[in-house]
Amino acid sequence: MQDAQWDIIIAGSGLSGFTMAVECARRPFFQDKKILLLDRDAKTKNDRTWCFWATDEEAASLPPVVFRTWDSCLFFGNNFESVLNITPYRYRMIRGLDFYNWAKTTLDQYPHIHRVYANITGLNAQSGEVFTDQGNFKGQIILNSALTPVPLLPEASQLYPHPPLSPIRNPQSPIPNPQSAIPNPQSAIRNPQSPSYTFLLQHFKGYLIETPDPAFDPAVVTFMDYRLEQKGETRFVYVLPFSSKQALIEFTVFSPDLCPAEEYDAELNRYIHEFLEIRDFRVLESEFGVIPMTDFPFSPAAESKVIHIGTAGGFVKASSGYAFKRTQRKLLAFAGDWEKNGVPDPSLLRSSWRYRFYDSVMLRVLKENAVGGKEFFTGLFQKLPPSLVFRFLDEDSTFADDIQLLSAPPTWPFFKTALKQIPVLPKI
Ligand SMILES: Cc1cc2nc3c(=O)[nH]c(=O)nc-3n(C[C@H](O)[C@H](O)[C@H](O)COP(=O)(O)OP(=O)(O)OC[C@H]3O[C@@H](n4cnc5c(N)ncnc54)[C@H](O)[C@@H]3O)c2cc1C
Repeated sequence: MQDAQWDIIIAGSGLSGFTMAVECARRPFFQDKKILLLDRDAKTKNDRTWCFWATDEEAASLPPVVFRTWDSCLFFGNNFESVLNITPYRYRMIRGLDFYNWAKTTLDQYPHIHRVYANITGLNAQSGEVFTDQGNFKGQIILNSALTPVPLLPEASQLYPHPPLSPIRNPQSPIPNPQSAIPNPQSAIRNPQSPSYTFLLQHFKGYLIETPDPAFDPAVVTFMDYRLEQKGETRFVYVLPFSSKQALIEFTVFSPDLCPAEEYDAELNRYIHEFLEIRDFRVLESEFGVIPMTDFPFSPAAESKVIHIGTAGGFVKASSGYAFKRTQRKLLAFAGDWEKNGVPDPSLLRSSWRYRFYDSVMLRVLKENAVGGKEFFTGLFQKLPPSLVFRFLDEDSTFADDIQLLSAPPTWPFFKTALKQIPVLPKI
């Protein structure tokens, strides 16, 4: 199997790898292609929960594994609280394990897609080789979501039982990239001549709790609750009720560094006691995660034979950390176009410059805490219909929407930050 030449190697079978594999499986164009799916993990654990908003029409093209949906979203901001009317969207939740099982069952019906468990140690973009602890594999096209071209997560996050992404560590087998426009972020930060990209982490811990008595309204999700002390960062909690006695409660921080481990537990317990007023509860499961948020230009453009997808391809929305629906939308469009034209077009995987610009400014505003997430989202939800905000975050807004939106938050700090960002903006 190692010596065989593969038409397509999908390196990494998480959200983006499985999504791409299922798209290849379903589309007749890929039926005669030899496709290999590589991952070091069998994906048998519920290692994450995906939430996102989607209309019913959008949901029809998503994997049919939604675990819960909510029509009402509670928001607690700066002296402002509201039940947001999110029509025509619904807030939806998918359990990671349900998605993995659905993808595996789907792929089992397509023998031309092979799955191999292997730890990937490097890629050679020119020769199309994938180096692994199970031997090397060679492909015409490699769709990579396993290795990030630059380190995205701090060392400490690798302690997480299932580190989500591998930075390239082995200097003998990095992704060779001599002509690439991708600069090294560390040297970019150190070199005063080069632009400083913004790196922020979205890190969170969640408890799935059960109470002996009814404590939740299963019809209402708490989308963002900013009542906890912000500590000069953006900190909020969201609550996903599964029943009147069960809910997933997530404490989330946007900041450059992780918190000490005990702080996540302390803040979760404080929130449950002080704001939910729950004294008696049992933790059934817990989840910890780190999502990199950056305006670093992960060009998914083909570097020879490698196309980066998922987080490694810059799919995570830099200003919000949402990636689930974006991944589906980008890869469905990409696969459809590939099928139609016979060749993959990685430019379809990039957001337009207009949204990259907004994200870059927003990210820097958040990092410098020029405006905290609490003030920013309060400004938006107090003044604008939630559907407009969601449309904007989905990158579906019209120019008229943008004008309304840009006038809602405290605009002066954004304007000042945009001026400071001028050296970076052409390079994002
Ligand atoms: C805990 C958590 C919760 C999240 N919640 C949300 C949410 O609610 N909504 C939302 O929109 N986004 C969310 N995200 C962000 C984003 O949607 C996910 O990170 C998503 O899984 C990213 O997809 P991906 O394909 O890039 O990476 P992954 O899904 O992480 O897949 C990468 C795959 O590569 C494999 N891999 C890594 N290194 C190697 C290696 N060296 N060799 C072989 N295989 C390797 C991993 O095992 C994994 O299967 C969340 C992220 C996390 C971590």
